[in-house]
Amino acid sequence: MRIAFKISMVSILVVDDEKIIRDGCTRILGKEGWAVQTANSGEDGLRLLQEEPFDLLLLDLKMPGLSGMEVLQRVRDLRPELLVVIITGYATVESAVEAMKAGAYDFVSKPFLPDQLRIVVRRALEKKALQREADLLRQERAKGLREIAGEKSKIKTIIHCMADGVLVTDHEGRVVLHNPALVRMLKMEISPPLGHALDDGLENDCWRGFVRRIRETTEGSTVSQEVVVGDLTLMAHIAPVRSEEGETLGSVTVLRDISMLKAIDRMKSDFVAMVSHELRAPLSSVEQQLSVILAGILGEVNNRQQEMLGRAKERTHALLALINDLLDLSKIEAGFVVQHKEPVQITEVLEKVVELLKPQAAAKNIALTLSLPEILPQVMMDRGNMEEVFINLVSNGIKYTPERGSVELFVRVQGSHLCAEVADNGMGISSEDLPRIFDKFYRVKNAQTRKITGTGLGLPIVKRIVEAHLGTVEVESQPGNGSKFRVYLPLEPSAKGGA
Ligand code: ADP
Repeated sequence: MRIAFKISMVSILVVDDEKIIRDGCTRILGKEGWAVQTANSGEDGLRLLQEEPFDLLLLDLKMPGLSGMEVLQRVRDLRPELLVVIITGYATVESAVEAMKAGAYDFVSKPFLPDQLRIVVRRALEKKALQREADLLRQERAKGLREIAGEKSKIKTIIHCMADGVLVTDHEGRVVLHNPALVRMLKMEISPPLGHALDDGLENDCWRGFVRRIRETTEGSTVSQEVVVGDLTLMAHIAPVRSEEGETLGSVTVLRDISMLKAIDRMKSDFVAMVSHELRAPLSSVEQQLSVILAGILGEVNNRQQEMLGRAKERTHALLALINDLLDLSKIEAGFVVQHKEPVQITEVLEKVVELLKPQAAAKNIALTLSLPEILPQVMMDRGNMEEVFINLVSNGIKYTPERGSVELFVRVQGSHLCAEVADNGMGISSEDLPRIFDKFYRVKNAQTRKITGTGLGLPIVKRIVEAHLGTVEVESQPGNGSKFRVYLPLEPSAKGGA
């Protein structure tokens, strides 16, 4: 391999007491385009070496004054990287070998032919170029490693200083990384050991659900879940980590302390609950009195009065519905939900809801059907709360489906969950509205929904109750193509098999 080196940059020093050698070298090497300087003694040579960065030193061993060997030793201290080629007579080949042992690179014997000198010098310069290249590579590598090490410690420092808790697990749920905020927020006595799965044996439903979510997230999509640990309420955002090829590598969980927000929210809820409660009694009384008048008990009511009082009663009724929903939500937000958990056959809940809402469906000629598999496992739930969930979903299906449509209920076991679906073939929901329908008071406003009354609190109630059961609710819908609301409830580990 021929190594490229910049000829213009090559400078050579020849140290020899014989003028004929100095002149010969200057002539032969000068013809190659290399810059040559000479010195007639070791002392002179060393002085020049201190002044200029030569690439190569041609050094005579036998000189009066400082010998070549002594010069060589000083050069090793002064410029250890400088290549030295020894010029020696036949009689001193042995000392040339000694010089090479002392660090010289090569030697050329006097008298030499121009080509012999050229070959030796060229070989030395090639070696020098190789050396330079290797040095550069070494420096680059060292720089790269330094940068990587720097980046690593930078990321580590940032994660350690974060106020939010961070937890990274691998594809088998083993802990890969965590920060002090996580340990503090989860009130752990010792940090979770790296390389081990998180302990889900703790007697805390929330914690168990959270650990299960972390495992499941490696298979699914991002989830957000509240976790209560002692007096803290934490919001856990759990996201899967995927490689460029889409392979799941593990999960990243970020925990945020939302206790303060929760406290403020609770104060707001308490206030709303108090106001709603105070309003409910007088409003109910107004509604009752309007009913009495409209029934003609207090005397005849003419058509015009009927119409106006009828509208007033309708409005009062809507207000009472809103107040009842607000009170329901306040109760749920205050934690009065899932009070009586027991093993329940969801079939019983759904059959009751269908029975209750049949008249509402019949009034619109809507076919309300329930399809159930033969065997279904029982699920731990609060029966009353779960009825409320499906009353909301089914009555929405009826409300937002035009006459002669259909609302169907299906149930199946899906992995570690029971999935109950309410599917209608009604007006559907646009992709802009979909992410917001579970927000409090959010109602879709368009020509189709204008005449439909509601409070915008039904779905938030559904979501909170389902989440209090450690479940999830999802929706799939397109305008004009109906909607499917799916409620997933976790099965007890032994219940997966059925019966
Ligand atoms: P509302 O009292 O308005 O029904 P919800 O919280 O139950 O309040 O629902 C929020 C909004 O979501 C509704 O206003 C409606 O626009 C939309 N929505 C809910 N269920 C359905 C459905 N099955 N089909 C179409 N839109 C629906």
